[in-house]
Amino acid sequence: MMKRIGILGSTGSIGKQALEVIARHPAQFSAEVLTARSNYTVLIEQALRFRPSSVVITDESCREAVQSALAGTGIEVRSGSSCLGEVVSGDNVDMVLTAMVGFAGLMPTICAIKAGKQIALANKETLVVAGDLVTQLARENSVQILPVDSEHSAIFQCLAGERNADVEKIWITASGGPFRAFSADKLAKATHTDALKHPTWNMGAKITIDSATLMNKGLEAIEAKWLFGLEPDQIDVVVHPQSVVHSLVLFLDGSIKAQLGLPDMRLPIQYALSYPDRLPGSFPRFSFTEFPALTFESPDLLRFPNLTIAMEVMRKGGNLACIMNAANEVAVDAFLNDRTGFSGMTRIIEKTLEKATFIENAGLIDYIESDFEARSLALSFV
Ligand code: NDP
Ligand code: MG
Repeated sequence: MMKRIGILGSTGSIGKQALEVIARHPAQFSAEVLTARSNYTVLIEQALRFRPSSVVITDESCREAVQSALAGTGIEVRSGSSCLGEVVSGDNVDMVLTAMVGFAGLMPTICAIKAGKQIALANKETLVVAGDLVTQLARENSVQILPVDSEHSAIFQCLAGERNADVEKIWITASGGPFRAFSADKLAKATHTDALKHPTWNMGAKITIDSATLMNKGLEAIEAKWLFGLEPDQIDVVVHPQSVVHSLVLFLDGSIKAQLGLPDMRLPIQYALSYPDRLPGSFPRFSFTEFPALTFESPDLLRFPNLTIAMEVMRKGGNLACIMNAANEVAVDAFLNDRTGFSGMTRIIEKTLEKATFIENAGLIDYIESDFEARSLALSFV
């Protein structure tokens, strides 16, 4: 049966690759909703090619351009962030791919879950900020959250046919990012241009910086905790520069399962969209001769303190991950705009965590207020 997909963030790295997957399987998938923030040129091109029922451009100043380009096509054009949730909750959508960046993805994802839409989740910040609330809502609405993040897709695949109670621990693999081999001195002088050169993955700017600081692995640890119902001490990170082993699960009897493949996000995207089916794919195949050695090492927590911060935040719980996420979004933006250096990002996050209000049992309003408070604090520390 045709699955009708709504894509939150169709003009980004994940969004574009998802449309490639949809284009390869026209009998299985259609793109019903496409959304962007301000990149109206790409949104228009996508709309003319995929003919969705609706498009949303959240930046109101771009509405006119989209409206006139799509006049006469029958495609509904809307603008503003507040309609995102409504548009992906319509009867014409079966599954929502959440591919926006950051906290902004939380509210539309919650709307989609409440409307009973299956979720293909790329926007990890949604689970980092409010994993307890989002997973609870998913259970209440019989919604499955299918991971798109390659490491989580790997763990999900390793867990197929297994009982969660049989899991001893998981390892999330990390490429180590562009600065894996940098000395502490060299790291202090690293610029965003250096950081944007990721060795194995081609991704949006925010996650690429998170990969350079290893904050991305911290966010992924928290994402895994909520997706797979794990305790913090069951989650570990291992650096694997070739990005071929996408993650591993150790079971109680000592057996380990891993999922492997070339680093290509179209694979986990396709698996999340087609689950529980596997569709044929003509993506490049892995070859042992191209990878004579797969290597593993421990992350260097001294050079990459953001990973330790995130692991501690995961252990302490409450709204700390929400605070950390907001501070990190501000810090990454400051780094991308030359307003702070590489280690400045860690300083901003630490200071914000120190000052922001701790809430043990947070609800949605608390998370929204915490995000707001943490952003203001973080901005004052830039
Ligand atoms: P990009 O920056 O490439 O794309 C983000 C998309 O979301 C764009 O369509 C952008 O629109 C839109 N968007 C951004 N901010 C807003 C906002 N405030 N309101 C509405 N729309 C917005 O990001 P990625 O595709 O790299 O990442 C998306 C998510 O997937 C992130 O959470 C990331 O961590 C996660 N992820 C990404 C991976 C990757 O390989 N890229 C791998 C694993 C996870 P516009 O183009 O107009 O700015
Ligand atoms: Mg990942």
